[in-house]
Amino acid sequence: MTTSAELFDLASRHIPGGVNSPVRAFKGLHRPPVFMERAQGAYLFDVEGNRYVDYVGSWGPMITGHADQDVLAAVRARLDNGLSFGTPTAVETTMADLICDMIPSMEMVRMTSSGTEATMSAIRLARGTTGRDKIVKFEGNYHGHSDSLLVKAGSGALTHGEPSSPGVPASLAEHTITLSYNDIEGVEECFAEIGDQIACIIVEPVAGNMNCIPPQPGFLETLRRVCNEHGSILIFDEVMTGFRVALGGAQAHYHITPDLTCLGKIVGGGMPVGAFGGKRDIMQNISPMGPVYQAGTLSGNPLAMAAGIALLTKLQVPGFHDALSQRVETLCNGLQERANAAGVPMMTQSAGGMFGIFFTSQSRVDNFAQATACDPEAFRRFFGAMLDHGVYLAPSAFEAGFMSSAHTPEDIQFTLDAAEKAFNVM
Ligand code: PLP
Repeated sequence: MTTSAELFDLASRHIPGGVNSPVRAFKGLHRPPVFMERAQGAYLFDVEGNRYVDYVGSWGPMITGHADQDVLAAVRARLDNGLSFGTPTAVETTMADLICDMIPSMEMVRMTSSGTEATMSAIRLARGTTGRDKIVKFEGNYHGHSDSLLVKAGSGALTHGEPSSPGVPASLAEHTITLSYNDIEGVEECFAEIGDQIACIIVEPVAGNMNCIPPQPGFLETLRRVCNEHGSILIFDEVMTGFRVALGGAQAHYHITPDLTCLGKIVGGGMPVGAFGGKRDIMQNISPMGPVYQAGTLSGNPLAMAAGIALLTKLQVPGFHDALSQRVETLCNGLQERANAAGVPMMTQSAGGMFGIFFTSQSRVDNFAQATACDPEAFRRFFGAMLDHGVYLAPSAFEAGFMSSAHTPEDIQFTLDAAEKAFNVM
C-alpha cells in the first residue's frame, strides 16, 4: 500500500508544493496532506482505507453529499453525446433559466469555468459599465486569484501569510480599496470621500474565507445604500453562499438585492463551473451584446451544466435548507458544550449550511483583525486530533466548514465524540 506521505513526496517532484491549490498542502499543520481515494455521502476514504466524516465537501459544492446518485446519473446520461462542442447547447438555457428563477436579482447570467473567472469578469463589467477604475473589497474576503482581487485576500492567501501576492502590479492594486468587514463607518467615510470614483463594491455577504463571519445588522444595507447614492455597482460574491445559506443565497436570507451576483461551487454540482449575472441593463454590456469582453472555451460545458442542474433541482425540496441549518446548529451547540466542559476557549458562528470554529475567548468575531487574533496553535492541535479520530475539517483556521444533507445524526454524534476526545488532549 502506498501511504499519503509517500504520495505527497511523489507529487512534490513535478507539482509545486505537491498540490494544485495551496490550502490542500496542510502547510503549518506539521503533517502531510491526506490523499483521498473516493468519497460517498458524508464520507471521504483515503488511500490507506481510513474513513473520515467530511466537513469540507470539496470546498462547498457537495451540499447533498459526495457521489450524489442523481448528479452522477445526469452526467452519465450526457456522457456518450461527447464532452464539449464549443457551440450553444439547450442545456445552457435550462441552467440560465433555473438560476434566474432561483435568484430573482439575476435577470441574465453568463457561465464561466470557475468562481475566479466569475468575479474577475463581474469586476470588468462593473468597470466597463461605470467607466470608473476603483473597486472596494473587504480585508479577509477572498474572491479568487485574479490580480485586482488578490489584495488583502483571505483563504489560502491568508493561511500562507501573504494577503497580497508578489506578481500583482502595484499600479493595479492601487485601484483596489480594502476596508474592514462589518465596518459601516469605514464604508461611509470612503464613499463620502471618493464615492464617485468607485466602480463597485465586491463583498462576500457571509465571509467564508477568514473562517465564518456573518454580516452585522446594517452592514449589507449600508453597502446597498452607498452604491445607490454614488452610482456604484454592488456585487455579491455568492460563490460560497449561493444555494447554501438559503435556496436564493445570502441575498434572500438577508433581503438585500445586489446589482450583480457571482456563483461557483454548488452551481456546478462538483464540476468546474462559475457564473455571474444580475440586472439586465448591466449584463447587456457583455460581449457579444455589448463592448465588455468576456469568453471561455469550456464555459457552459454540457456535462458540467447537467451536473449543476441536477444538484440545483434537488435543493428545491421544501425544507432542505431548514434541515441543513438545523444540522449545523446541532453540531455547533454540541461542540460548544464539549469545549466548555474541557475548559477550551472556543466559539462557533454559522449561517445556513456553513459554520466556523474559532479558538478564542472573544464572544464574536466580526472582521479580519479579530479572526487572525484567534489561537492558531489550538486550531492545529484540534485539527490533527479530529483527523486522527476520523473527522476531516478544513485544513486551515481561516476556512468555513460545510454541512451536507448526507450528514446523519449519527455522523454528527460521531463528530462530537471525536471533538470531546480532541478537546481533552489540547
Ligand atoms: N469567491 C469566493 C467567495 C470563494 O470562496 C472562492 C473560492 O473558494 C472563489 C471566489 C474562487 O472560486 P474558484 O476557486 O472556483 O476560482
